[in-house]
Order: sequence, then structure tokens, then C-alpha cells
Amino acid sequence: MIIPQLADNLTRSGTCEPPEMCPVCGQKTVLKNESGVETLYCANADCPAKKIKAFSLFVSRNALNIDGLSESTIEKLTAGGFIKEAADFFRLDEHREEIAQIEGLGEKSFDNLIASVNNARKTTPARLLFALGITGIGSANAGVIARHCGGDWDRIISLTHDELVEIDGIGDVMADSFVSYFADEENKRRACELRDELEFEDTGEQKEQIFEGMTFVITGSLSHFSNRKELQELITDLGGKAAGSVSAKTTYLINNDTQSSSSKNKKAKELGVPIISEDEFLEKFGIESK
Ligand SMILES: [Zn+2]
Repeated sequence: MIIPQLADNLTRSGTCEPPEMCPVCGQKTVLKNESGVETLYCANADCPAKKIKAFSLFVSRNALNIDGLSESTIEKLTAGGFIKEAADFFRLDEHREEIAQIEGLGEKSFDNLIASVNNARKTTPARLLFALGITGIGSANAGVIARHCGGDWDRIISLTHDELVEIDGIGDVMADSFVSYFADEENKRRACELRDELEFEDTGEQKEQIFEGMTFVITGSLSHFSNRKELQELITDLGGKAAGSVSAKTTYLINNDTQSSSSKNKKAKELGVPIISEDEFLEKFGIESK
């Protein structure tokens, strides 16, 4: 194959100067270099665009899972002044008449929204922890941390750096970010107010930790779970680990295409790691199919 020679950069890619101001709030931006990748941030903690992203994470499936709150609905509620911080989602009922008048909402959607909000009150410490959006704390890590504390919320939020790094999978950077989040009085107040709106349904200790000491790698598409994250969450909930790549430490590779010639399958075969399908996984561990 002939590789064409580059004569000119016609699109002028790579020549763009990053904006100095946030296009949304007009405040200064900062360019951070994170392990070789330059990322542009808006430094304003109250930037509306950042808030909307944070609220979207808060209501997302693996977080508080509040149905029916698209980003555009969140934008409308924020613009109307009904949502200033996450706990306000649980106080929407106080503004029934005004919210029902917002274009595109109406009484019916409002009732549905309130129903979803009330459903979401029953949740887990792990979901709340993930929902806070602490840098580096994804839903799997939130689960690991919550379980480590036996689902005791007060214990979770007072974890020290030393305690955190002793938890499997939590490194220095994550521990720093976690500790500095709760060291901020405002963050702590918000987290406590949220906690008061919620009812934790399980502490994470009640579930039998059947996957203790096991590491799973999931690849390919799934049919019983809506995505890999959901299956990973189930595994970590029951004491197992979900890893991204196959190694000698992998207990099982879950792949519905057990004959696939993907690199993960090859690696598993090389290392003698058993490859099981989703169905085999569910059957083997007596997990009710969804
Ligand atoms: Zn901004």
C-alpha cells in the first residue's frame, strides 16, 4: 500500500488555540495535563454547564437513577431556579404549580417525575457516593468503598487517606480526591442533606459475598444486562472484582461468543482462564436471570 505524502494541513487541525474563557459562564479556563492528555477545564465551580453535567451524573442509572430527567429537563429546572443543588431534586414537589407550567413539562410529566424521585429515595450508600461525582470515584469504586464500610454512611464520609489506600483498588490519587472532597465543608453539608432525603435499603453486608477473591473480565455484548457496567456492579456487589483485561489473576472471562478469536479470548486460552457465557455465569452462581 502506498502511504500518501502530506502536502498541506488543509483543515488546519492542531492549530487551534484553546479558548481562554468558558463559552458558557465567561470565566477563566485552565489547561490541565493529565498523564499526557491535555484537557481544558472551566475553573468556575458554579459554572452552569458544569452543574448540569454534575446533575446529569447524579440522576443517571448507576447513581440515584431518577427516571425521566433528560439533560434538557435538568436545564429547564436549573434555569427556573428549582434546582440549585442535588438535594433540590427531592424538594421539587414544593414547586408543583410553577414547574407544571414550564414548556414541555405539564402536570402529567410532573407527576411522573415526582414518582421517579420518590422511587429513587430508596437507594444504597454506594449509589449516593457515586452520585456525588467525586473525581476518580466511579460506580465500581464507590461500591468497593461502601462495602468496606459495611454501608455505614458516616463511616464512609470520614474515611482517612490511610484507610482508603488499604482498600483494594483504591490508589493514592483517588484517596486524595476523596479526602479533599469531604474536607470541604460545603460538600459535606450537601452530602448530609442528601443523606437525609434518602432511605438506604441495604448496607451491602447482607448480600452473601459469593464472588469473594474472584476476578471477572467481561467482553462482547450482553443480553441479560443492559450493559457491562450493570454486570460489573452485580459482581462487585457480591464481593468480586471486575477487571478490564485478562491476566493470570482472572478467574473467568465472560463472553457470549465463547469461540470468538478476540484478543481477550486468545489470552484467556493461553493462560487457561475459563471462558463462560452470560447464561453459564448466571447458572453457575445461581443468579436469577433478568
Ligand atoms: Zn464555565
